[in-house]
Amino acid sequence: MGYRMSLDSDECMSTGRCVADYPSVFDFDEDELAFIKEEIELSEEDCIRAARNCPSRAISVFDKDGNEIPT
Ligand code: SF4
Repeated sequence: MGYRMSLDSDECMSTGRCVADYPSVFDFDEDELAFIKEEIELSEEDCIRAARNCPSRAISVFDKDGNEIPT
């Protein structure tokens, strides 16, 4: 098991960046808030990129031991 992400939809501003960049991982719910639809393994680099590209900092990244990685 590799890196894992979590997404706080309360913080999402619906910019669509994560959905556009990683459509296999992120999607919008009926309220146009992003969620992680599938725990597809992304590389550490891609997880961190997704988190950094979120303008509302709604995406967090954790290592395989569950420790949050600073992004
Ligand atoms: S990048 Fe952040 S603010 Fe934009 S849709 Fe994804 S979670 Fe929401």
